[in-house]
Amino acid sequence: MLRKFRVLLFLIPATVLWAQQPPSSPTKPKTPPAPEPKTAVSAVHVDGPYIALTFDDGPHQKLTPRLLDLLAEHRIHVTFFVVGENAAEHPEILQRAVREGHEIGNHSWSHPNLAKMSDENVRSQIKRTEEAITSAIGSRPTLLRPPYGSVTAHQKHFIHDELGYEIILWEVDPLDWKNPGPNVVSSRILKETHPGSIVLAHDIHAQTIQAMPATLTELEAKGFKFVTVSELLKLQTPIPPPTPKPVAPAATPSPSVAASPST
Ligand SMILES: [Zn+2]
Repeated sequence: MLRKFRVLLFLIPATVLWAQQPPSSPTKPKTPPAPEPKTAVSAVHVDGPYIALTFDDGPHQKLTPRLLDLLAEHRIHVTFFVVGENAAEHPEILQRAVREGHEIGNHSWSHPNLAKMSDENVRSQIKRTEEAITSAIGSRPTLLRPPYGSVTAHQKHFIHDELGYEIILWEVDPLDWKNPGPNVVSSRILKETHPGSIVLAHDIHAQTIQAMPATLTELEAKGFKFVTVSELLKLQTPIPPPTPKPVAPAATPSPSVAASPST
């Protein structure tokens, strides 16, 4: 009984204090968080079942041509984010990919963590790869995927405004670089892919290539239509206004930091 009374005594002043708190005033000067600048894309809103498959880290001498054969059978166009070193070694694979309707994006020269590099070195990583791609296919890439999705806010602006790239991340990550087996790669992609998704995979892992026949067939069965990332960006439609909320929209979760080590 006494104990209960003590609790009550304790609660009373707290309650009074709480009741005396002024209601939060709408005029209170409060700086809203700055919206995330739209310089990185991981998915887009589309009116249709469009998705973009992306394959990183190649081209691979054997696996990329195997993937190209399969994509040709399915008449599917994808986007390859190539590493400059590999692109310079296999320009013929890039040429074939472009001839068959695929898109080539820049994935840096040697796959470093750009966020830990100076502007000068970032520029060199991107420009050197750009030159290798341009010399192979005759046109410069306009999309960049930073290795590991890792890039600072400053670099995003610099890469977008100064170097002229759209920064492309991803929405669906099957973690294929961990070699979980083709069935797992496939089921993760099938489970997570929605209209407007950008799907991440790697054409340097045999299991990823093994996963593709079933993955492509089942995505087709679900009615998805495959486009390159640039095509997906052009298909973007405005998001219908949601029920009004008084707060600023939450920043899109970005995989910038906690990204796949091998992306
Ligand atoms: Zn990568």
